[in-house]
Amino acid sequence: MLSSVHKIKRLIATVFIVLLSAAILSPPSLAADGKLTGVRGTFFDFIDDPWKHVGDEEASARFYADGLLVMDNGIIKDFGPYSELSSKYPGLEVTSIANRIITPGFVDGHVHFPQTRVLGAYGLQLLPWLEEWIFPEEMKYKDAAYAREGVKHYFDNMLSAGTTTVQDFGNSYKSAVDIFFDEASKRNMRVLCGVSGLDRSAPADYCVAPPQFYSDSKEMIQKWHRKGRNLYAITPRFAYGDSPELMAMCGKLHKEFPDCWVNTHVSENPTETRNAPLEHKCSDYLGCYEKYGLVGPKFTAGHGVWLSDNEIERLHKAGAAISFCPNSNTFLGSGLFRLGAVTDPRKRVRLTFGTDMGGGNSFSMINVLNQAYKVGLCNNTMLDGSVDPRWHDEAQAERNKLNAYRAFYSITLGGAEGLYLEKLIGNFNPGKEADFVALDWNAGPSSMRWHQSLICQKPATKKEAAQLLFGILAVGGDERCVDETWVMGKRLYKKGLTETSAVPGEEQR
Ligand SMILES: [Zn+2]
Repeated sequence: MLSSVHKIKRLIATVFIVLLSAAILSPPSLAADGKLTGVRGTFFDFIDDPWKHVGDEEASARFYADGLLVMDNGIIKDFGPYSELSSKYPGLEVTSIANRIITPGFVDGHVHFPQTRVLGAYGLQLLPWLEEWIFPEEMKYKDAAYAREGVKHYFDNMLSAGTTTVQDFGNSYKSAVDIFFDEASKRNMRVLCGVSGLDRSAPADYCVAPPQFYSDSKEMIQKWHRKGRNLYAITPRFAYGDSPELMAMCGKLHKEFPDCWVNTHVSENPTETRNAPLEHKCSDYLGCYEKYGLVGPKFTAGHGVWLSDNEIERLHKAGAAISFCPNSNTFLGSGLFRLGAVTDPRKRVRLTFGTDMGGGNSFSMINVLNQAYKVGLCNNTMLDGSVDPRWHDEAQAERNKLNAYRAFYSITLGGAEGLYLEKLIGNFNPGKEADFVALDWNAGPSSMRWHQSLICQKPATKKEAAQLLFGILAVGGDERCVDETWVMGKRLYKKGLTETSAVPGEEQR
């Protein structure tokens, strides 16, 4: 008996040694799954928050003029200079992407898929705009075929804009949310969404009674949360459109499913900012969500244009996030978000940037950066003391300036941190999901080539790459600069090759 146990032990030890030797001696390209692939090109990503490096933002970024990204079945396995890594991976199947800057995929922290068809509706502020355009359109998503066509068009637009992660507001009808997760799964995208809770200040047919909202949300959580790359966000649409009973249901769901995210709006337009606290008997807008235990890590509220300093401090302490949506805030005339106030290192608030499409009039996060830059500078006309010396605040004015480092961090690693997804996405660290974008610094309007050629023909340094990225933001200004979009190591979009249309075919995936 003893000797047979001994034999088994010896056999196990032998097998272990053989396996270990094979692992050490075999080149990584012969990994058991045989799925290692590489992308060679010029890479730019972030390893830290540039607002921590005021005056030396360059220290937050990482740049390889000739880099190699090694992927194992969609997960980043290795990343570094090509000259150092290539010999480690003989026989690696490498795709070269020349004359492009490759950044992590963009994170859109605040967007509404059922508004795809009413993008750019003319001339109204938030509440009348919702009534005239948005609620009637979102109600059409009760029809499954209409919803599916809209959702496909939405994802096509996202990918052609370089966006690989979205946090979306969903729809009051769970059937439309179900279609959203289904289409996201087909593309294997990292998404967050939920049934949108709305039971007043909207058409009766689009309102959902709190018990129904609770059971619909629960069903969708159980069906989709952490299935593939899908994540569920409990979604009280906005406190002004939610009764205390519905908000209580959100609190109940949050207690029952603490792993889920919470996504909502706060302090967007002055009228709702005044009225929401009255409806919920709170002293300010953020208090409406605190009252139901919703504000904490993985909580995001869109806009926050009219947040007080005290609300900003409470968000900071709670580890909650704001989504800055400058396209929407200017398109609907909501106001100017105080970027410099929420990036104060003493009370830094986690941030995502969002299109808020269709309140924002573009699918492009590059376009969001273009507008965010202008909002920052408009705020600075107040802070430089020239209007009223009492408002003079040079440090806050400095933080309002959206240079290339702050800008591209905010829609990649910063967006991931805002959503508490930085362990999964946001930069090219090994172990993360391989979502990335190849940006063309010569695309866009014809003036782009003239502008960029003054900087360099091809970036050799981090500083040159940052200058080209700022040109992409300020002159290119939108999805025209996106040449390729990759999701989990697979190219899902190539400019000129992938048709975007209202009804995309299956072959595009
Ligand atoms: Zn919104």
